[in-house]
Amino acid sequence: MWIKRRKTRVIKVGDVSIGGDNPIVVQSMTNTFTEDLEATVSQIKELEKVGCEIVRVAVPSVQAAENLSLIKKRISIPLIADIHFDYRLAILSMEMGADGIRINPGNIGGVEKVRAVIKVARERQVPIRIGVNTGSLPSEILNRYGYPSAEAVVETALNYMKFFEDEGFTNMKFSLKGSDIKTTVLANKLFASYCDYPIHIGITEAGTVLSGAVKSAAGIGILLYEGIGDTVRVSLSAHPKVEVKVAFKILSSLGLRSYGVDVISCPTCGRCQVNLPDVALKVEEALEHVKVPVTVAVMGCAVNGPGEASFADAGIAAAGERFILFVKGKVAGKFNEEDAIKKLVEEVERIADERKKQHQGFS
Ligand code: SF4
Repeated sequence: MWIKRRKTRVIKVGDVSIGGDNPIVVQSMTNTFTEDLEATVSQIKELEKVGCEIVRVAVPSVQAAENLSLIKKRISIPLIADIHFDYRLAILSMEMGADGIRINPGNIGGVEKVRAVIKVARERQVPIRIGVNTGSLPSEILNRYGYPSAEAVVETALNYMKFFEDEGFTNMKFSLKGSDIKTTVLANKLFASYCDYPIHIGITEAGTVLSGAVKSAAGIGILLYEGIGDTVRVSLSAHPKVEVKVAFKILSSLGLRSYGVDVISCPTCGRCQVNLPDVALKVEEALEHVKVPVTVAVMGCAVNGPGEASFADAGIAAAGERFILFVKGKVAGKFNEEDAIKKLVEEVERIADERKKQHQGFS
């Protein structure tokens, strides 16, 4: 492995292990009102379909907290409750079966209230993610540093860590986020040098799909290269399933995870006579359900396409207005666009099935 991951202790969120040698876990967060049970369950199911491994929901009210037990019954991935300001909601969320909670100890209402949360988390063995952001640093630390520096974020996180440890609580992971990539990276690097708690990484408020994915890839990519990051969330102003897809792309492009179909497509040139970006998107959508790693090529011409994509497991290459289907480099037919996509999906499903069986045979 060209990236040496930082050695971290292992914690469990539901049945998902985080830290140690476990795969870096992909998370997302719903953007529905958690009070709206049906909408929230339906969005989580969409997230499960694209491979999301842990989901977080906002818990701003008693109704939202009470819904957690109902949500949990209908989903199959661990559920984390995100709480700000009201420690009673943190406690109620755990009583309702949340697999983890995310709090900022600085805004939960004081030391005694944090202690009350820790007590229930300890009794119920619920892990806590402690989130520290540059936007919510204690005023004493902020005044001393003069601005929300990486060092100020780290000092805040270390103070919380000590407080929780003094209370006998170590079932936790941390996230440290700055308002820019530089502060986030520096804060995480510094914090990682002090402890072995798992770290959740992400670039906060990254933006819309294009700029957010690029910023996330840059920031998360640097941290991953440094070996930092046990769970990851890409924050985008988009449907959260896009966050999951981008997160897997970042991880797979660094060789840290492989998940689902990787559609590679050519940039097109004067030889291409079809709307290739559109076809590539259709192929990507049609193969969303495949969870086994398969490389699929969508190329703009039959002259160079199959050659340029010879490493792909299967693919299609435009030949005039029709498409040549190729499997493992060999031509397997010529079809119109609709049939070509259909045949390609069948081939990929077959390859994925074979791989799954081979993998089961070995495990
Ligand atoms: Fe151009 Fe064909 Fe290469 Fe696409 S595969 S970039 S259309 S030569």
